[in-house]
Amino acid sequence: MFSKADLRPCRHCGKPVRWTTSEAGRPFGVNPEPDPEGNTAVMRDAPGTLRSRRVSTARPLLSHERLMMPHVATCAPPTPEVTQSPRTPPRAAQGRLATVYDLASYRRPR
Ligand SMILES: [Zn+2]
Repeated sequence: MFSKADLRPCRHCGKPVRWTTSEAGRPFGVNPEPDPEGNTAVMRDAPGTLRSRRVSTARPLLSHERLMMPHVATCAPPTPEVTQSPRTPPRAAQGRLATVYDLASYRRPR
């Protein structure tokens, strides 16, 4: 029922998202594979449009629908690089300490 033609990369995280049309007629992105934890029913209608709707107790999932997770629920854009840098790079400091220690032990009289 699903096709690769429905997949478009998310502009936030770059992951593939299956694009459906919500009941309001708006594009609604869900994760590509069905998810038992999801809350969105997705089905393809007769003209071939992938349609989604919110599942509720009043309107449970139907047999021709798949339960999907809205992509926004799991969208995790790559975290921006930390701009704060430590005052002294830890690796260089460790290297310097190790050098000092080596010299001291070298000079210790026997
Ligand atoms: Zn995303």
